[in-house]
Amino acid sequence: MRYSEMFLPTGREIPSDAEIVSHRLMIRAGMIRKLTSGIYSYLPLGFRVIKKVEQIVREEMNRAGAQEVFLPAVQPAELWQESGRWQQYGKELLRFRDRQDRECCLGPTHEEVITDLVRNDVKTYRQLPRNLYQIQTKFRDEVRPRFGIMRCKEFSMKDAYSFDVDEKGAEISYEKMFEAYSRIFSRCGLKFRAVEADTGNIGGSFSHEFMVMADTGEDALVFCSSCDYAANVEKAEVARPEKKAVDESAFSPLEEIHTPDVRTIEEVCAFLDVTPQDVVKTLIFLVDDSPVAVLVRGDEEINEAKLRSYLGCDSLELATDDIIYEVTDSPRGFAGPINIKSRIVADYSFVNMTNCVVGANKEDYHIKNANIGRDFKVTEFADLRLIKETDSCPRCESPLRFARGIEVGHVFKLGTKYSKAMKATYLDKDGKEKYMVMGCYGIGIGRTAAASIEQNYDDNGIIWPVSIAPFQVMITPVNIKDEALLTTAEKLYQGLMDKGIEVILDDRDERAGVKFNDADLIGIPLRITVGPKRLAEGKVEVKIRKSGEVEVLSVDEAEKFIVDWVQAELKADG
Ligand code: ATP
Ligand code: MG
Repeated sequence: MRYSEMFLPTGREIPSDAEIVSHRLMIRAGMIRKLTSGIYSYLPLGFRVIKKVEQIVREEMNRAGAQEVFLPAVQPAELWQESGRWQQYGKELLRFRDRQDRECCLGPTHEEVITDLVRNDVKTYRQLPRNLYQIQTKFRDEVRPRFGIMRCKEFSMKDAYSFDVDEKGAEISYEKMFEAYSRIFSRCGLKFRAVEADTGNIGGSFSHEFMVMADTGEDALVFCSSCDYAANVEKAEVARPEKKAVDESAFSPLEEIHTPDVRTIEEVCAFLDVTPQDVVKTLIFLVDDSPVAVLVRGDEEINEAKLRSYLGCDSLELATDDIIYEVTDSPRGFAGPINIKSRIVADYSFVNMTNCVVGANKEDYHIKNANIGRDFKVTEFADLRLIKETDSCPRCESPLRFARGIEVGHVFKLGTKYSKAMKATYLDKDGKEKYMVMGCYGIGIGRTAAASIEQNYDDNGIIWPVSIAPFQVMITPVNIKDEALLTTAEKLYQGLMDKGIEVILDDRDERAGVKFNDADLIGIPLRITVGPKRLAEGKVEVKIRKSGEVEVLSVDEAEKFIVDWVQAELKADG
């Protein structure tokens, strides 16, 4: 392309909502523009990057044996009612009615649509396994859209769905996708890691998230320093402590203490001169309309994702003051397990606590020396708390490391969740009707592009890996009024295009400095500078954006150098 003809509005201005570097640079480099909250237009440069990422995804999905389809974005409520998610999905699902007053939604994901498609056309084991994918616009009404196209409402996702005859087959499909994802993110030039993850709204039994390592990532990750255990902190397991023998003779008598206005753990500790390890936190949650009291040691935090998955509920939220009053007969801040009127679930951190401080279920009172068994019953213990730095690896007990990451892909083992709910069955070899075993696999296309910027930039702008760069080479004649410079630049431009290289010729009548700044900002991997001093010797300069190295070469050499360099880079990533 000729720069003078391009719609490429670069600039210095940074929108006030742009908190992270990829958002700032995508705006400044003229890649994206915000239409309204969480909804973006892709300009030509941004769209080229998106298409590159899509193409890599497509090639690797095809290589793995998946077949591309294109499913509707508008979906009827009936399908979602069949799977049960019409109720479960919550406000992220954008619902509306058509003119016949039929309820519909804009697809945030396509398990229902694909399961419906496959159940109607796949009848026997001979038609399985199958893996179908699409690259399509999803809509999710995110509570807090932010970070540009990293977390927006309307975004392009590749989603694939596998259907197998049994768990063993599904395991193979999962492995193939896992492998394809590793290839995709390597080819996109990303430093990433796969971690065990929570299955959230999609459900199913097991999942891995592909995380791009970046300090600005929204996800906290934990890794073992010795074995290969890695998990999202939302999911990371904490081992159950060994239960110590209980010596009831060491139980002190219960003591009710007046604790006026003392509500938080810190306040309780200060007032009673105890440590958080002596105190039981009792949190009341509303779980699908029923209250549940959750107990955890005072120095630990409840992990809501783990709690949600343990309870297997559709909705989970902290109880309102009214509900707290109903189950504790007191206002917020004094809840405790003794005589509470709700189900009690306790975290493992509670297993060995004795003589502890609990809320008295009475305004302005706490109780000292509460003991399980003698004073109250707990029948449900589970791993419900957040992992922390001082915990050890749940697999091998070695020390843990923490980091931050951006989730770019997610692979799920769905089992028969959707096939059972929606009766997606096939006839096996013996003529028996069985449920298909499913998997689903998503990649955020825009988020992957943005994540690449988070890992590859400097003070001057973006540094694209060649594989997803919008163009591979920028040719910069330093002064277009100089006929000789322009002729050489044009010759290089044609020559490189003939060899299949993607080139921008900066034919604008601008100062060289302005042109150099723009080339760096938009992150083109190679820049050829055509200037009078070098050209007098028949040479041009080729600068490599990522290393800053400069080669001084003749026009013919430059052409060859570029073709070889681009090819080598593409190979190195793939
Ligand atoms: P998150 O935890 O970030 O909300 P998710 O678990 O809801 O993600 P999935 O349902 O697994 O995401 O979707 C698959 C992929 O789609 C994600 O790995 C991510 O790359 C992308 N994605 C999800 N939500 C968004 C969004 N709001 N904006 C852009 N990309 C998204
Ligand atoms: Mg989400």
